[in-house]
Amino acid sequence: MVSNYIPGYNNQQQLNSLGHSNETALMALAAQGNPQLNRAVLMEQASAQRSMQQIAAQKNLEVPKVNFYPSTHGNSRKARKSDIRQAYRLLKPAKRSLISPARLFGSKYRYNKQSHICVVDGCDCKELIQYDNLYEKICDDETGRSLWDMYWQNPVTGQAEAFLAMDKVTSGRKMRGTYCPEHLHLYHLLCKWEAEEDKEYEMNPNRLRDKVKQGVSIVTVPVSVMQKSEADTPLMLSKYEPFFELLEKDARDYEGINITHYKNPESGINDITTVTFDLRIFQKELIEMNNPTPAFQQMINQQPNNAPPIPNTQGVNQ
Ligand SMILES: [Zn+2]
Repeated sequence: MVSNYIPGYNNQQQLNSLGHSNETALMALAAQGNPQLNRAVLMEQASAQRSMQQIAAQKNLEVPKVNFYPSTHGNSRKARKSDIRQAYRLLKPAKRSLISPARLFGSKYRYNKQSHICVVDGCDCKELIQYDNLYEKICDDETGRSLWDMYWQNPVTGQAEAFLAMDKVTSGRKMRGTYCPEHLHLYHLLCKWEAEEDKEYEMNPNRLRDKVKQGVSIVTVPVSVMQKSEADTPLMLSKYEPFFELLEKDARDYEGINITHYKNPESGINDITTVTFDLRIFQKELIEMNNPTPAFQQMINQQPNNAPPIPNTQGVNQ
Protein backbone atom coordinates (compact mmCIF):
# COMPACT_ATOMS: atom_id res chain seq x y z
CA MET A 1 0.00 0.00 0.00
CA VAL A 2 2.94 2.26 0.58
CA SER A 3 4.02 2.65 -2.99
CA ASN A 4 1.92 3.97 -5.82
CA TYR A 5 -1.16 4.24 -3.74
CA ILE A 6 -2.02 7.65 -5.07
CA PRO A 7 -2.57 7.51 -8.78
CA GLY A 8 -1.00 10.34 -10.69
CA TYR A 9 2.19 10.56 -8.70
CA ASN A 10 5.26 8.88 -9.99
CA ASN A 11 8.05 7.30 -8.00
CA GLN A 12 10.36 10.25 -8.32
CA GLN A 13 7.81 12.41 -6.54
CA GLN A 14 7.24 9.76 -3.92
CA LEU A 15 10.87 9.84 -2.98
CA ASN A 16 10.51 13.54 -2.36
CA SER A 17 7.56 13.17 0.01
CA LEU A 18 7.84 14.76 3.44
CA GLY A 19 8.95 11.69 5.36
CA HIS A 20 12.07 11.52 3.24
CA SER A 21 12.84 15.24 3.19
CA ASN A 22 15.70 16.53 5.26
CA GLU A 23 15.46 19.67 7.36
CA THR A 24 17.05 21.94 4.75
CA ALA A 25 14.55 20.84 2.16
CA LEU A 26 11.70 21.39 4.60
CA MET A 27 12.92 24.87 5.43
CA ALA A 28 13.14 25.76 1.77
CA LEU A 29 9.62 24.47 1.28
CA ALA A 30 8.33 26.37 4.31
CA ALA A 31 9.72 29.64 2.97
CA GLN A 32 7.55 29.37 -0.11
CA GLY A 33 3.84 29.22 -0.77
CA ASN A 34 1.15 29.05 1.92
CA PRO A 35 2.37 31.03 4.99
CA GLN A 36 0.39 28.81 7.37
CA LEU A 37 2.28 25.81 6.15
CA ASN A 38 5.36 26.87 8.08
CA ARG A 39 8.42 24.92 9.10
CA ALA A 40 6.89 23.63 12.36
CA VAL A 41 3.88 22.22 10.54
CA LEU A 42 6.01 20.55 7.90
CA MET A 43 8.33 19.06 10.53
CA GLU A 44 5.33 17.70 12.43
CA GLN A 45 3.99 16.17 9.25
CA ALA A 46 7.33 14.69 8.30
CA SER A 47 7.91 13.15 11.73
CA ALA A 48 4.37 11.72 11.78
CA GLN A 49 5.09 10.12 8.45
CA ARG A 50 8.35 8.66 9.69
CA SER A 51 6.74 7.29 12.87
CA MET A 52 4.02 5.61 10.89
CA GLN A 53 6.57 3.99 8.61
CA GLN A 54 8.52 2.81 11.67
CA ILE A 55 5.43 1.20 13.14
CA ALA A 56 4.78 -0.40 9.79
CA ALA A 57 8.25 -1.91 9.79
CA GLN A 58 8.14 -3.12 13.41
CA LYS A 59 4.61 -4.42 13.48
CA ASN A 60 4.39 -5.69 9.95
CA LEU A 61 1.37 -3.47 9.47
CA GLU A 62 0.23 -1.89 6.28
CA VAL A 63 0.26 1.82 6.88
CA PRO A 64 -0.35 4.52 4.35
CA LYS A 65 1.91 7.39 3.39
CA VAL A 66 0.16 10.63 2.52
CA ASN A 67 1.86 12.25 -0.41
CA PHE A 68 1.02 15.88 0.09
CA TYR A 69 3.13 18.27 -1.93
CA PRO A 70 2.85 21.84 -0.60
CA SER A 71 2.34 24.47 -3.27
CA THR A 72 5.32 26.70 -3.96
CA HIS A 73 3.27 29.41 -5.67
CA GLY A 74 4.67 32.90 -5.12
CA ASN A 75 1.28 34.35 -4.19
CA SER A 76 0.51 33.08 -0.68
CA ARG A 77 -3.27 33.22 -1.17
CA LYS A 78 -3.06 31.18 -4.34
CA ALA A 79 -0.64 28.76 -2.68
CA ARG A 80 -3.12 28.20 0.15
CA LYS A 81 -5.95 27.71 -2.32
CA SER A 82 -3.99 25.09 -4.14
CA ASP A 83 -3.03 23.37 -0.84
CA ILE A 84 -6.71 23.29 0.13
CA ARG A 85 -7.65 21.75 -3.22
CA GLN A 86 -4.95 19.12 -2.88
CA ALA A 87 -5.99 18.31 0.71
CA TYR A 88 -9.59 17.76 -0.39
CA ARG A 89 -8.42 15.44 -3.09
CA LEU A 90 -6.28 13.42 -0.69
CA LEU A 91 -8.94 13.25 2.04
CA LYS A 92 -11.88 12.11 -0.08
CA PRO A 93 -13.11 8.70 1.12
CA ALA A 94 -12.09 5.90 -1.24
CA LYS A 95 -14.92 4.77 -3.50
CA ARG A 96 -15.55 1.35 -4.90
CA SER A 97 -15.07 0.80 -8.57
CA LEU A 98 -18.10 1.70 -10.69
CA ILE A 99 -18.44 -1.88 -11.89
CA SER A 100 -18.02 -3.45 -8.45
CA PRO A 101 -21.04 -5.58 -7.52
CA ALA A 102 -20.65 -4.41 -3.89
CA ARG A 103 -21.33 -0.92 -5.11
CA LEU A 104 -24.67 -1.98 -6.59
CA PHE A 105 -25.91 -3.54 -3.37
CA GLY A 106 -24.10 -1.66 -0.67
CA SER A 107 -22.21 1.51 -0.06
CA LYS A 108 -20.32 3.28 -2.81
CA TYR A 109 -17.51 3.82 -0.30
CA ARG A 110 -14.89 1.17 0.14
CA TYR A 111 -14.25 1.66 3.89
CA ASN A 112 -17.54 2.57 5.52
CA LYS A 113 -18.24 -0.21 7.98
CA GLN A 114 -15.90 0.16 10.95
CA SER A 115 -15.11 3.25 12.95
CA HIS A 116 -11.43 2.30 13.37
CA ILE A 117 -10.62 2.06 9.68
CA CYS A 118 -9.25 5.03 7.71
CA VAL A 119 -11.80 5.92 5.03
CA VAL A 120 -9.07 6.78 2.53
CA ASP A 121 -6.63 3.90 2.75
CA GLY A 122 -8.33 1.29 4.95
CA CYS A 123 -5.50 1.30 7.48
CA ASP A 124 -6.39 -0.13 10.90
CA CYS A 125 -6.14 2.78 13.35
CA LYS A 126 -6.94 0.50 16.28
CA GLU A 127 -3.56 -1.15 15.87
CA LEU A 128 -1.87 2.23 15.57
CA ILE A 129 -3.49 3.47 18.79
CA GLN A 130 -2.68 0.30 20.70
CA TYR A 131 0.90 0.16 19.64
CA ASP A 132 1.88 3.78 20.06
CA ASN A 133 -0.85 6.40 20.05
CA LEU A 134 0.34 8.60 17.22
CA TYR A 135 -2.72 10.82 17.51
CA GLU A 136 -1.34 11.91 20.84
CA LYS A 137 2.07 12.73 19.38
CA ILE A 138 0.95 14.98 16.52
CA CYS A 139 0.24 18.44 17.89
CA ASP A 140 -1.00 21.73 16.50
CA ASP A 141 1.97 24.07 16.11
CA GLU A 142 0.08 27.03 17.60
CA THR A 143 -2.03 25.60 20.40
CA GLY A 144 0.14 22.58 21.22
CA ARG A 145 -2.99 20.43 21.47
CA SER A 146 -2.71 16.93 20.09
CA LEU A 147 -4.95 15.39 17.44
CA TRP A 148 -6.14 13.01 20.16
CA ASP A 149 -7.31 15.90 22.36
CA MET A 150 -8.85 17.82 19.50
CA TYR A 151 -10.63 15.10 17.56
CA TRP A 152 -10.89 11.96 19.65
CA GLN A 153 -12.80 13.29 22.66
CA ASN A 154 -16.47 14.01 22.95
CA PRO A 155 -16.45 17.70 23.94
CA VAL A 156 -19.59 17.27 26.03
CA THR A 157 -18.69 14.16 28.01
CA GLY A 158 -14.89 14.40 27.69
CA GLN A 159 -14.75 10.68 26.92
CA ALA A 160 -12.58 9.22 24.21
CA GLU A 161 -14.55 8.70 21.04
CA ALA A 162 -13.64 7.74 17.49
CA PHE A 163 -13.37 10.64 15.09
CA LEU A 164 -15.80 10.01 12.25
CA ALA A 165 -14.91 11.21 8.78
CA MET A 166 -17.53 12.88 6.57
CA ASP A 167 -18.28 11.88 3.01
CA LYS A 168 -17.56 15.35 1.61
CA VAL A 169 -14.48 15.76 3.86
CA THR A 170 -15.49 18.92 5.77
CA SER A 171 -19.23 18.51 5.30
CA GLY A 172 -21.83 15.93 4.35
CA ARG A 173 -22.84 12.75 6.10
CA LYS A 174 -20.83 11.19 8.89
CA MET A 175 -19.30 7.93 7.74
CA ARG A 176 -18.61 4.80 9.72
CA GLY A 177 -14.89 5.26 9.41
CA THR A 178 -12.12 7.57 10.54
CA TYR A 179 -8.81 9.09 9.44
CA CYS A 180 -5.45 7.59 10.31
CA PRO A 181 -3.03 9.99 12.12
CA GLU A 182 -1.50 11.28 8.89
CA HIS A 183 -4.79 11.88 7.17
CA LEU A 184 -6.24 13.44 10.33
CA HIS A 185 -3.29 15.82 10.52
CA LEU A 186 -3.92 16.90 6.94
CA TYR A 187 -7.62 17.26 7.79
CA HIS A 188 -6.71 19.50 10.74
CA LEU A 189 -4.50 21.66 8.53
CA LEU A 190 -7.25 21.87 5.91
CA CYS A 191 -9.73 23.12 8.54
CA LYS A 192 -7.23 25.76 9.66
CA TRP A 193 -6.53 26.94 6.12
CA GLU A 194 -10.22 27.22 5.38
CA ALA A 195 -10.85 29.15 8.60
CA GLU A 196 -8.06 31.54 7.66
CA GLU A 197 -9.51 31.92 4.17
CA ASP A 198 -12.96 32.68 5.62
CA LYS A 199 -11.47 35.22 7.99
CA GLU A 200 -9.75 37.05 5.15
CA TYR A 201 -12.94 36.92 3.11
CA GLU A 202 -14.95 38.46 5.96
CA MET A 203 -12.35 41.21 6.37
CA ASN A 204 -12.49 42.07 2.69
CA PRO A 205 -14.03 45.57 2.24
CA ASN A 206 -16.19 44.24 -0.62
CA ARG A 207 -17.69 41.72 1.76
CA LEU A 208 -18.63 44.52 4.16
CA ARG A 209 -20.41 46.31 1.33
CA ASP A 210 -22.33 43.11 0.50
CA LYS A 211 -23.36 42.77 4.13
CA VAL A 212 -24.66 46.33 4.24
CA LYS A 213 -26.70 45.54 1.13
CA GLN A 214 -28.18 42.58 2.98
CA GLY A 215 -29.24 44.90 5.77
CA VAL A 216 -26.47 44.02 8.20
CA SER A 217 -24.84 46.90 9.96
CA ILE A 218 -21.63 46.81 11.93
CA VAL A 219 -21.39 48.63 15.23
CA THR A 220 -17.88 49.17 16.44
CA VAL A 221 -17.55 48.87 20.20
CA PRO A 222 -14.67 50.91 21.63
CA VAL A 223 -12.12 48.58 23.20
CA SER A 224 -12.01 50.63 26.41
CA VAL A 225 -15.71 49.92 27.02
CA MET A 226 -15.22 46.20 26.58
CA GLN A 227 -12.22 46.09 28.86
CA LYS A 228 -14.09 48.01 31.52
CA SER A 229 -17.01 45.61 31.59
CA GLU A 230 -14.63 42.68 31.97
CA ALA A 231 -12.82 44.34 34.82
CA ASP A 232 -16.18 44.82 36.52
CA THR A 233 -16.62 41.08 37.02
CA PRO A 234 -17.07 40.72 40.79
CA LEU A 235 -14.33 38.84 42.56
CA MET A 236 -16.86 36.28 43.71
CA LEU A 237 -17.58 35.30 40.11
CA SER A 238 -14.01 35.21 38.86
CA LYS A 239 -13.50 31.63 40.05
CA TYR A 240 -16.20 30.55 37.58
CA GLU A 241 -14.29 32.02 34.67
CA PRO A 242 -12.68 28.71 33.55
CA PHE A 243 -16.12 27.13 33.70
CA PHE A 244 -17.52 29.84 31.45
CA GLU A 245 -14.63 29.58 29.06
CA LEU A 246 -15.39 25.88 28.70
CA LEU A 247 -19.09 26.59 28.24
CA GLU A 248 -18.49 29.26 25.65
CA LYS A 249 -16.24 26.95 23.68
CA ASP A 250 -18.74 24.08 23.76
CA ALA A 251 -21.69 26.37 23.08
CA ARG A 252 -20.07 27.28 19.78
CA ASP A 253 -19.78 23.63 18.73
CA TYR A 254 -22.85 22.12 20.34
CA GLU A 255 -26.46 23.06 20.06
CA GLY A 256 -27.24 21.44 23.40
CA ILE A 257 -25.52 24.23 25.35
CA ASN A 258 -26.75 27.81 25.22
CA ILE A 259 -25.53 30.88 27.05
CA THR A 260 -27.86 33.88 27.13
CA HIS A 261 -26.84 37.29 28.38
CA TYR A 262 -29.46 39.80 29.43
CA LYS A 263 -28.01 43.23 28.98
CA ASN A 264 -29.14 46.17 31.03
CA PRO A 265 -30.31 48.73 28.45
CA GLU A 266 -29.18 51.65 30.62
CA SER A 267 -25.73 50.57 31.75
CA GLY A 268 -25.01 48.20 28.84
CA ILE A 269 -23.66 45.65 31.35
CA ASN A 270 -24.77 42.02 31.47
CA ASP A 271 -27.01 41.83 34.50
CA ILE A 272 -28.17 38.25 34.12
CA THR A 273 -26.51 35.29 32.43
CA THR A 274 -28.24 31.96 32.03
CA VAL A 275 -26.85 28.66 30.83
CA THR A 276 -29.20 26.13 29.26
CA PHE A 277 -28.39 22.46 28.79
CA ASP A 278 -30.80 20.82 26.38
CA LEU A 279 -31.22 17.14 27.27
CA ARG A 280 -32.92 16.26 23.96
CA ILE A 281 -29.91 17.40 21.99
CA PHE A 282 -27.51 15.61 24.35
CA GLN A 283 -29.49 12.42 23.83
CA LYS A 284 -29.03 12.83 20.11
CA GLU A 285 -25.31 13.24 20.79
CA LEU A 286 -25.30 10.05 22.83
CA ILE A 287 -26.84 8.13 19.96
CA GLU A 288 -24.10 9.43 17.70
CA MET A 289 -21.56 8.46 20.35
CA ASN A 290 -22.77 4.87 20.17
CA ASN A 291 -22.11 4.91 16.48
CA PRO A 292 -18.51 3.63 16.73
CA THR A 293 -18.02 -0.13 16.77
CA PRO A 294 -18.65 -1.06 20.44
CA ALA A 295 -15.48 -3.15 20.84
CA PHE A 296 -13.39 -0.34 19.41
CA GLN A 297 -15.12 2.23 21.61
CA GLN A 298 -14.26 0.09 24.62
CA MET A 299 -10.65 -0.05 23.55
CA ILE A 300 -10.23 3.69 23.05
CA ASN A 301 -11.91 4.34 26.38
CA GLN A 302 -9.02 2.54 28.00
CA GLN A 303 -6.46 4.64 26.15
CA PRO A 304 -5.59 7.37 28.67
CA ASN A 305 -4.89 4.73 31.34
CA ASN A 306 -2.32 3.11 29.04
CA ALA A 307 -3.96 -0.26 29.34
CA PRO A 308 -1.78 -3.19 28.25
CA PRO A 309 -2.31 -3.97 24.55
CA ILE A 310 -5.17 -6.35 23.94
CA PRO A 311 -4.03 -9.40 21.99
CA ASN A 312 -5.14 -9.10 18.41
CA THR A 313 -8.01 -11.57 18.08
CA GLN A 314 -10.21 -12.16 15.13
CA GLY A 315 -13.79 -11.01 15.31
CA VAL A 316 -13.06 -7.96 17.46
CA ASN A 317 -14.09 -5.74 14.62
CA GLN A 318 -17.81 -6.18 14.69
ZN1 LIG B 1 -5.32 7.27 6.16
